[in-house]
Amino acid sequence: MMMRFAGRMLRETDPRLLWKFGYNFGYKGMRSVQKFKQRLKKGEHFPPFLFISIISGCQLRCQGCWVDVASPSKHIDLDALNRIVNDAKKHGNSFFGILGGEPFLHPQLFDLLEAHPDCYFQIFTNGQLIDDKVAARLRRCGNASPLISIEGTEVVSDERRGRPEVLNKTLAGLQACRRHKLIVGVATSVCKTNIDDLVQESWLHRLIDMGVHYAWFHTYRVVGPDASPELALTPEQVIDVRRFIVRMRNRLPIAIVDAYWDDKGEALCPMATGVSHHISPYGDIEPCPIIQFARETIHDGDSFFDTVTQSSFLDDFRKTAAKTTRGCIVLERPDLVRDLAVSHEARDTTQRQTALAELESLQARSSQHHPGQEIPEENWMYRFAKKHWFFGFGAYT
Ligand code: SF4
Repeated sequence: MMMRFAGRMLRETDPRLLWKFGYNFGYKGMRSVQKFKQRLKKGEHFPPFLFISIISGCQLRCQGCWVDVASPSKHIDLDALNRIVNDAKKHGNSFFGILGGEPFLHPQLFDLLEAHPDCYFQIFTNGQLIDDKVAARLRRCGNASPLISIEGTEVVSDERRGRPEVLNKTLAGLQACRRHKLIVGVATSVCKTNIDDLVQESWLHRLIDMGVHYAWFHTYRVVGPDASPELALTPEQVIDVRRFIVRMRNRLPIAIVDAYWDDKGEALCPMATGVSHHISPYGDIEPCPIIQFARETIHDGDSFFDTVTQSSFLDDFRKTAAKTTRGCIVLERPDLVRDLAVSHEARDTTQRQTALAELESLQARSSQHHPGQEIPEENWMYRFAKKHWFFGFGAYT
């Protein structure tokens, strides 16, 4: 299967982009995790993977979206973004997740990519603003991969994303990526209304036919002002998603990403392990994208690295989450998230200023952690990669 996948990558993508991906993300990504492990030994917590929401504005209105898309759009300016990236680079980081809102609405996104040819950026996008001009510029940069979100069939997509014609516009963006030989992925937040359509081998075949190189299956998070709890998966469905991912990794020439399980199939939380933290569109340093509280910002002090490593707020969140569950503390214990935010007198980082009320309205529910029902990786490459670069990092011992 791996040979077929490698063949696809060589045939379908620009060799210069494949090299950048292999070196800036693959090799340097591995090195950044090694440096992270060394820092952990010194008790220094600075994540190898930063997720930055560079802008709050978006043209869609998705169910379960926690971003202030209905408020005036705000973004982090280029100087501040460069300061974050340069500081993180000094400590060995090379990979950055770029989120929004919709990142392609940010007026300086390409200036950021062009300023850091030695890094790799994964752009979480709805794909609707990617036309030939944008795709051609992405190809020239060579150091970014669009991860395009698809949430269902035509009908479900419009329903989930609160606008008409969503899927067609997104697929047009995907086709532009293909025409320009980009490395492109498709992400889905798996929920009740799309699991039967998208957690299917036939859907992965369709993605392969559309020139998609990797798929990322998240499980729906019941958060935000329009949390839509009716969309949440049952525990059995979450386990089905895990089983499907493991099986398909051995069958199809497409990479499948998850951020919830290690090589043994044991659950983990990227925030609790410290492998990633999040920066809001307003510069707040948050434990993760859906925990919209902060004590520190990117503008505090002279060193972003020091601000993050010296944060007792982040430290307490990591420790409390790891002590409580291997799953998602927001889903399983929203009350504890609330208590942590209050005890640290953390700021509600949203424009809508309803994050605390939203937490208080949440009912506890299960997440990716199902003790006794672990499904280990079957494919040796995923097993090896997770064993060395994506596991608990001592958080759960
Ligand atoms: S707290 Fe939940 S949403 Fe946040 S990183 Fe952990 S598992 Fe993911």
